[in-house]
Amino acid sequence: MTKVIYMDNNATTRVADEVVDEMLPYLREQYGNPSSMHTFGGQIGRKVARAREQVAALLGCEPDEILFTSCGTESDNTAIKGTLAMYPSRRKLVTTRVEHPAVLTTCRNVERHGYSVSEISVNRQGNLDIDELGFRIDDNTAIVSVMYANNETGVIFPVEKIAECVAARGLVFHTDAVQAVGKIPLNLKNSAIPLLSLSGHKLHAPKGVGVLYVRRGTRLGAFIHGGHQESGRRGGTENVPGIIALGKACELALKHLEEENTRVKLLRDKLEKGLLKSCPDCFINGDSENRLPNTANISFEYIEGEAILMMLDQFGICASSGSACTSGSLEPSHVLRAMGVPFTAAHGSIRFSLSRYNTDDDVDWVLEKMPGIIRRLRELSPFVKTG
Ligand SMILES: *Cc1c(COP(=O)(O)O)cnc(C)c1O
Repeated sequence: MTKVIYMDNNATTRVADEVVDEMLPYLREQYGNPSSMHTFGGQIGRKVARAREQVAALLGCEPDEILFTSCGTESDNTAIKGTLAMYPSRRKLVTTRVEHPAVLTTCRNVERHGYSVSEISVNRQGNLDIDELGFRIDDNTAIVSVMYANNETGVIFPVEKIAECVAARGLVFHTDAVQAVGKIPLNLKNSAIPLLSLSGHKLHAPKGVGVLYVRRGTRLGAFIHGGHQESGRRGGTENVPGIIALGKACELALKHLEEENTRVKLLRDKLEKGLLKSCPDCFINGDSENRLPNTANISFEYIEGEAILMMLDQFGICASSGSACTSGSLEPSHVLRAMGVPFTAAHGSIRFSLSRYNTDDDVDWVLEKMPGIIRRLRELSPFVKTG
């Protein structure tokens, strides 16, 4: 098999070796149920409590504010539906046009149950219109949900500021921080954010475990009803190996945060500069300053992102494109469309998302292969003007 150059870390990440080592005993020998009365099961509870502390340390919050879920999507659903259940008279949700489907589809779904949804737009750089947000929020608003950082462009929103405005009006705020956690420093101590989602598999833990941070005193209904697990806030026997893995992954994330913002950022910048220099008619999507250190979203005019991905794949390079192939027609990404990226450029957008496992050689390999790929595809493109 050819070497894999993995630059699709906003889709999912490699599980860290240290994380695998930490969780393995809880698959093989220590398989007890933390709710059991016997020592064999009961002792697992201490390890789960340890993981809760590790997650809390990364977020700067208290362990009892950590609610373990099955994924980022469940955390988002819990935050939104669990809040609506607590404020039945408030019939409005405010969110943005560029949210992940975990939030956007959830909001649009409750629309069918008599709620109205306001989606705030972004500008060409992908930044939020804060004034519009202010206008759209009223006393009928049950929840305001704004993502911390965008998964496609890496653009970071001023969520702390937004949370303060929302709190000042006595309303509930949620942020999907799945892409932010582990990439930029967060500190929820003295923060105005009451609800925050994260996902294990986006920060080198396995798939199938997530967290909803619920600040003490926040009113929230259960989304999954069942046993008394998670202090009665989420039924279902705990995903013990996953939770232990996530705890370790958070400990590692804290340790590597500095590297993420120095070495990984330098690699990303080198990749962007190199591509802009060697490939004509391309540009970066997303604000140049307010951006995650690992994400590069680049539009190559007149060609299809899918075609670029297929050619990159032949060289073992994993990235992703901004369009999703649905029912045979290529729909450009809702994020790039909301930003007003022209149709021909939105179609040709590629996202490279790096991690601490990427090396300088990885970037060099991509920089070596891309110009030829772009040249060949442009030769075949019906959109490119000739002569
Ligand atoms: C991946 C992702 C999710 C969904 O997380 P899962 O654990 O895969 O359900 C939600 N929001 C954002 C911004 C994401 O990138």
